[in-house]
Amino acid sequence: MSEHTPAGRLIVLTGPTAVGKGTVEAKLRADHPEVWVSVSATTRQPRPGEVNGVNYWFLTEDEFLAKEQAGEFLETAVVHGMAHYGTLLKPVEEHLAQGVPTILEIDLQGARRVKQRATELGLEVVYVFIAPPSFEELKRRLIGRGTETPEQQARRLETAKVELAAEGEFDVTIVNNTVDQAAEDLWHVIAKEYGL
Ligand code: 5GP
Repeated sequence: MSEHTPAGRLIVLTGPTAVGKGTVEAKLRADHPEVWVSVSATTRQPRPGEVNGVNYWFLTEDEFLAKEQAGEFLETAVVHGMAHYGTLLKPVEEHLAQGVPTILEIDLQGARRVKQRATELGLEVVYVFIAPPSFEELKRRLIGRGTETPEQQARRLETAKVELAAEGEFDVTIVNNTVDQAAEDLWHVIAKEYGL
């Protein structure tokens, strides 16, 4: 199989801030280590416990813009008006070419950008939306995790409202009621796409 005929469809996972995407992904990976989640580049500061090359590639703005200029990204976005985020194209193509179930966890702008470029890049994609049980629950989770200042929380909630309105653009919605159930639902999507 050539590098340009991926075996399975790329899984693009999007959902509003604090919906629990990271936790769902961690559970999925613990249960199914054969899944690969792309490591994005970002210019935001690492949170306590985050490791370079594991959670993100933490880059300076200059480093990020140089890679963008060099065409190394599948997509990029400025998220919450704060920091650059981007998916590096090469590792995604390599994993897909090897038939590895491949997931991007990116924001709505990024998902839309992938949609625009998918045909040109010969990528087949399934778009998955992770939704909270309700907006109130999302607010509770965001405030509860306590990793953002009140000002950052307010900005993230504004972004979340916009993202929630875009659910209809996705192929599949998974409601994150519990981590176990959401991870299981996500696995079913992947298993179907990759014939596992
Ligand atoms: P956080 O700063 O909480 O890790 O992530 C903030 C937002 O950035 C999340 O909505 C996450 O999905 C998004 N994000 C993470 N990596 C990427 C990426 O490579 N591209 C895009 N477009 N968004 C990303």
